[in-house]
Formats: sequence, structure tokens, C-alpha cells
Amino acid sequence: MACMLHGPCGPLNPSCPCMVDNKCTKNYPKEFIHCTEQGSDSYPKYRRRKPEDRGHTGTIRMNINGRFVNQLITNQWIVPYKRVLLQQLNAHINVEICSSIQIIKYILKYVNKGFDKAVFELQRTEGGNDQMVDEINLFQNARYVGSSDAAWRILAHPIHEHFPPIVQLAVHLKNGQRIMFSANTALERAQGPPPATTLTAFFELCHEDNFTRDLKYVDAPELYTWNKSTKMVQENTGGTNWKKW
Ligand SMILES: [Zn+2]
Repeated sequence: MACMLHGPCGPLNPSCPCMVDNKCTKNYPKEFIHCTEQGSDSYPKYRRRKPEDRGHTGTIRMNINGRFVNQLITNQWIVPYKRVLLQQLNAHINVEICSSIQIIKYILKYVNKGFDKAVFELQRTEGGNDQMVDEINLFQNARYVGSSDAAWRILAHPIHEHFPPIVQLAVHLKNGQRIMFSANTALERAQGPPPATTLTAFFELCHEDNFTRDLKYVDAPELYTWNKSTKMVQENTGGTNWKKW
């Protein structure tokens, strides 16, 4: 009630900042809904229980036309939140489910968007208004860099890091791995042992010591790096293509 209450707006409070043309731009009050639904191409519709359906309610004092009244608050007015965050930080923290492909793309887009750009013009402040207008300069499309961004880049600090790197882990039955061959290499491939895959090499790794014996396949990329270029190492040296970071 203290942190996550929207408005109330609408007819109760037409001058609420969220109101445009007598309508709440955030679509409050939200409808009651029995269970959470993932809308297509939109925010999820979260479960909002009715008071008669064991939904929580509360009352606030509201000033309506200069008169203080008790206003019943239902789940229709609550902004989506995470209870543990509210308990720890005691602040307004809107938490939404981010599960659709579009949202993942939206978040990652910012990493790849690059620097900020703007169309701007530099002008001398002295000299009055009789300066020559350079129309090309009026449409200068340029990059602008804030001081912290500039310092970060000058000092060559990493801009983006992803750890562990994404490794596609092969899953196949014994001797069921894919084998690539061309007309020239078909005979060699057919006679030789099948190439090591992340899976076969992982089994090798598990033989190495007590630590790797308990290692889960999905956790391997966090501790080991997959060495693609030495696929044949296994046969030659008895080692594995998984190398410790
Ligand atoms: Zn509103």
C-alpha cells in the first residue's frame, strides 16, 4: 500500500498525472483476473484477485473535491512488484515478468545499439544574428559522448562482457554424432574414429579426477573452455578438448 499503489486516478482523481483525455495512460484500474496470462506482444496480465476471492484490500484517505473520504483499495490498483525487494528496500520497484522472445531482444538490443547519436548544430554565441547559415552544418549527424563514457573508452575498459560464453553442447547417442564430410574426405572419415564432440570430450573430462567426476554437463562451460580447433587432440594425446579457463 505504501510503495506500490497506482493513483488512484480516473473519476476519483481526474487531475492525477497519469490522466490524459480523462483516461489513465497506464490503464489503471486493471481488471480482476483469475490467473496470470501472457498477452501476445504486450505486458502480461497478472492475477488480481477480487476481494470476495481472498484478494487483499485496504483503505486510504483521499481528498476528493476538498473532502477527505476513505477509499477502498483493491488489487486493481497495485503495480506489479516482488515482495522480497519491497521488504528489503522499502521503495517503489515495478517488477514485470520478462519471458517473451521480444523482451529478451529488447533488452539485448541496448547492448548492441552503440553510442548515442544526435542531429545538432554548433553556433557561436557572439556576433549577433547576422551570421551566415550553413545548411550542411544544420544537419550534422554526430555522436555525443558524456564524460564518464569518454573516460571509460579512453581507458579501454570493456564495454560489454558475457560470461560464461555461449557454447552449444552436443547431445547424441553413443556414436551418434554428426560427421561432416566432402567427396574428398569421405573415405578418411568413414575409416577414422568419429570426431570428439563436447559430449564425448565431457565424458573424457569426467574420468580425469574426483572434481570433474561430479561436474554437470551444463556447468562445464563455466569452468572449462571448449577448444574447437584441436578436435583431434583426444586421439593424439589422450587429453580432452575441454581446457580449464
Ligand atoms: Zn492512472
